[in-house]
Parts: sequence; C-alpha cells; structure tokens
Amino acid sequence: MKIICIGRNYVDHAKELNNKVPSEPLFFLKPDSSILPNRTAFYIPDFSENVHFEVELVYKISKLGKHISEKHAGRYYDEIGLGIDFTARDVQSKLKEKGHPWEKAKAFDGSAVVSRKFFPKDSFSDLNKIDFSLKQNSDTVQNGSSGEMIFDIDKIISHVSQYMTLKMGDLIFTGTPAGVGKVSDGDLLEGFIGDEQMFRVNIR
Ligand code: ZN
Repeated sequence: MKIICIGRNYVDHAKELNNKVPSEPLFFLKPDSSILPNRTAFYIPDFSENVHFEVELVYKISKLGKHISEKHAGRYYDEIGLGIDFTARDVQSKLKEKGHPWEKAKAFDGSAVVSRKFFPKDSFSDLNKIDFSLKQNSDTVQNGSSGEMIFDIDKIISHVSQYMTLKMGDLIFTGTPAGVGKVSDGDLLEGFIGDEQMFRVNIR
C-alpha cells in the first residue's frame, strides 16, 4: 500500500508557513515503513531539531482505479480516519531551498500516525462538516473541518489518479489546518474526530 499526502490544502496553514495557495493539489508519498505501529511511542529522530505535528483527516481507498472523474470519486473511498503527518521542518526547509524532494523530512520511520479506528463514510451526516482536532498535553493546538479544504477529497482522488493508480487500502492524508508546532520529549498528542478520540501518541 502507499500513503499519498496532500500539501497546503488549508489556506490558514499555507499562510502560516508563508507558502502560496496552490492552483492544483500538491502531493507527495510516504512509504508503508513510515507507519507508526499502534501503541508505540514516537521517537524524535536524531537528524532533526524541529519535528512538527500535522493532524489530518485520512481517507481509505476501497477500490482499484485510475483516471477517476470527480463525479465518480466517491465510489473509491469508504472509510475516514485521522492521522499525523510528522514533518522534520528544519530538514524540509533546507530541501525546499534547494528544490529537492521532501522524503527525508516527511517519509522517515514513524512519520505517519494512522488511527486504528476508521468510520464508514455513511456514518457522517455531512461529509463537508467532519470536525477534527489535536491536543498537545491537553491544550487544543489544531482544529479543522473537512469543508475548509481547498481541494476536497473528490478533487484529490480525481487529480492523483491521473498520475498513479489507486489501490484498495491506500491512504490519503488530506492536509493540515493551521497550528502546526514542535513536539518535545514527554509530550502526549491526542487526535479527535468530533468528540471521539482516534489516537494517543507519546513523544520520546
Ligand atoms: Zn501534511
């Protein structure tokens, strides 16, 4: 399976990092080795002094497809969960300056938190009002809603599938709202969809 991540998909987050709002979805990949095993602490890697959390809605692909039209994109995902796209921001800044790919900053071991629980998409009364949030040591640091995405999931599926085949079990991280920040040894991160706790991650 592969993990597809969308960058700069919330206006307020693009602005907080002084990035332009993109005119089409920007995406990158994380390998399956980046998934943090459940109930395992996240260890800050030696190569970064500034690892950031980014909480994101995660959509699970339910069917093989390519060249999917926006109109039919809804048939290709069936469940929605929550994740963290851990980012070595200091490493990423250097890569961006040089115009290099982002993998060293985004695709390292443990950099993808994926909730164990996923909700069937039919369980949401409005797919454009899926509220989610992240707590760092009981302070709410990020919150967002699916309706605030610049490119919604249908546009994302359609766009990405023009370039690569989507397979059952692939995950799409849909971008983060404002409020990203640094993690420190001893932190506890807790993610929520609505009031439902989706994951807890200890930082070491
Ligand atoms: Zn992200």
